[in-house]
Amino acid sequence: MEKKYIINPRYILRNESDKIVLLMKPDPVSPTSICVLHPIYAMILCFVDGCPIKEAGVKASNYLGIGKKEIMNIILPLIENKKIIKGYESIFPKDFLIEYKSGMERRKYNPDDFHCSNLNLKLSRLKAPADIICNITMKCYTDCVYCYADRHGHLNYKMSPDKICNIIDEAYNLGVVSFKLMGGDIFQYKEWEIILEKLKSYGYNPCLSTKYPLKEKDVCKLKEILDDKIPLQISLDTLIPKNVKSILHVRGEQYKDNIVSFIELLEKYEVNYIIHTVLNLYNDSLEDIKSIEDHIINRKFLREWFVDSAKCSMYLPYDYSYYKPSKENVIKIASYLENLSKSIDSFKIHIPKIVKNHNKIDQEKKSKIFNSRVSCSGNVSSMYILPDGKVTICEELYWHPHFIIGDLNLNCICLVLK
Ligand code: SF4
Repeated sequence: MEKKYIINPRYILRNESDKIVLLMKPDPVSPTSICVLHPIYAMILCFVDGCPIKEAGVKASNYLGIGKKEIMNIILPLIENKKIIKGYESIFPKDFLIEYKSGMERRKYNPDDFHCSNLNLKLSRLKAPADIICNITMKCYTDCVYCYADRHGHLNYKMSPDKICNIIDEAYNLGVVSFKLMGGDIFQYKEWEIILEKLKSYGYNPCLSTKYPLKEKDVCKLKEILDDKIPLQISLDTLIPKNVKSILHVRGEQYKDNIVSFIELLEKYEVNYIIHTVLNLYNDSLEDIKSIEDHIINRKFLREWFVDSAKCSMYLPYDYSYYKPSKENVIKIASYLENLSKSIDSFKIHIPKIVKNHNKIDQEKKSKIFNSRVSCSGNVSSMYILPDGKVTICEELYWHPHFIIGDLNLNCICLVLK
């Protein structure tokens, strides 16, 4: 039987009025990325919709009045291409067209939807975001000493599950490729299941992070909802009860027992997970690291262990020095973990680095670092929704009034970005 082809379901084409953009959905190893396409390419390639390649070529040739040979010269190199291909002011990522197999996701495009006026094939601010992060609650189970979030005075802000589901519907219809959730702790949003089910129905699989020791029924629910390729992140700084208390301000003994039971439940229900440890003044010792190691060493579903140093928070009423880990201790821990990682195959260990003090870097070096930074997607292709429906350009800015660009209680996503 003749092979059939489709545009790789990871790629979504969108008309931006003066150009077509190709949005690449993120996967566990690569983030969202964006390329520009000339509209003619989009009009041709949208005929590759699950039919044999020659049939797509004939349809595109008839639609555009361009010879079949010229059309096939464009289409054929894009079949399972293993390198990026450049066209006229356009870039085609790898595996642009792939073989269609029954059951695969395929988007139907209409070539009439790719007409543009006043072409401008430079990447610029998008009409609708490619990535959305929605913060559904500022509530947490813990009150961490190094908390980076602007939680004070915002703990009771909440949008209804219906409202959040409507936002997700609109995002999907606009071609948003990734919809992430943040908190606070998302499991402190009472109706978290409704939100996760909704995201799953559109193929959005956000990475979830928690410090809340979930109960058995919640772990069963998560097993149903989570994509096996996106592990659940558990933030776990130590299992020494008195240090748990100093860092998280919860009852240490009880928290330790609950979080160990939670890990056991994840193992029982075969849920993939990762552990994230934040080193600070209260857990920057080998004893703390070993307290975690003792409980995770022979686990089957643990995939990675990330160990990082706490960074300076903008939203705490005290100075960084109040919780900063000691440089010497971080070096000792890094060297211990490096040795440990050589003897462990079942999960990967990410070694902590010393946090650089940017205030000690001279002006020349600072500007060099600044000028070679990765370009920022804030207000260009991403948006951040706060728990009360306000929208800002970046997750670090929270309710800073200079950066609030709208309110989803008053406008839809597109109008906010406009
Ligand atoms: S660090 Fe995270 S879990 Fe801890 S209080 Fe802040 S937002 Fe909550």
